[in-house]
Amino acid sequence: MKSVLLLSVLSAAAVSAQPKLTLKVHTGKGQTGYDVNSTMIAGEKDMLVIDPQFTLSEAHKLAAEILESKKNLALIYVTHPHPDHLFGLAVLHQAFPMAKIVALPATVNAAKTGWPARQKFWFPTYGNNIPGPDPVLPEELTEPYLTFEGERFPVTGPLQGADGPGNSFVSIPSLKAVVTGDIVFDHVYFGVPKDAARENWEKTIDQIAALHPAIVVPGHQGPGATDDMSAVTFMKRYIEDWDKNAAASHSAAEMKAKVLAQYPNLGMEYTLNDRVAAYFPPAAKGN
Ligand SMILES: [Zn+2]
Repeated sequence: MKSVLLLSVLSAAAVSAQPKLTLKVHTGKGQTGYDVNSTMIAGEKDMLVIDPQFTLSEAHKLAAEILESKKNLALIYVTHPHPDHLFGLAVLHQAFPMAKIVALPATVNAAKTGWPARQKFWFPTYGNNIPGPDPVLPEELTEPYLTFEGERFPVTGPLQGADGPGNSFVSIPSLKAVVTGDIVFDHVYFGVPKDAARENWEKTIDQIAALHPAIVVPGHQGPGATDDMSAVTFMKRYIEDWDKNAAASHSAAEMKAKVLAQYPNLGMEYTLNDRVAAYFPPAAKGN
């Protein structure tokens, strides 16, 4: 009986499902690309890109992929205002001036006010591979969804991510997909939130899990990532081990060695020193 039922459900799905949308992820490589994901959702004619890469060189690679798809880049969404999800707009805006760029109002505001300091901060590392002091900014999204080829993609945020507040996620119901910004990280060394930030981040994860997505695109991913809910399993295990390692270590160097031994060859190793240092701050000066 069960198999008959399953078959009839499958055939009904085959008749009604319109495989109209496709989803493809472009991952920036290594420190230049910051292992950051850009998600390309293609319809019959148009394309939506969620997060436009960090460095200009990676954004050019993304632009090449968009051009080769032969789709019209109609819409760009920025999940949150961190530079690795924002700076690539400079390239995409120049290459596709007709594309509408949108973000939540809080993201637009933070992108604008934060740009000068962030541009200055990253310039010594990346030089002219990031945009100049004049920001390319999204427009404010006035409704809590993106409209794309007649479909609505709900946008949820701003809410707490793993790497700070002000994140958002986009769900694409017809693909059973969620594009998460820096709420989900997979197979990378990521910043482990503490205290209230951790509790609020877990609530965000619960909101994503409640959608039962088949596809979950993390904000950053390393080798072995599978773009599904197993990313959340990975994060929870990593955090549990992180806490144990922090408790058992006497210095940042000891902690780093433990993490590397337990989790070799993840992406974003260039961030690990800072991640560990957050758990072993220099001695307080008595204030
Ligand atoms: Zn990020």
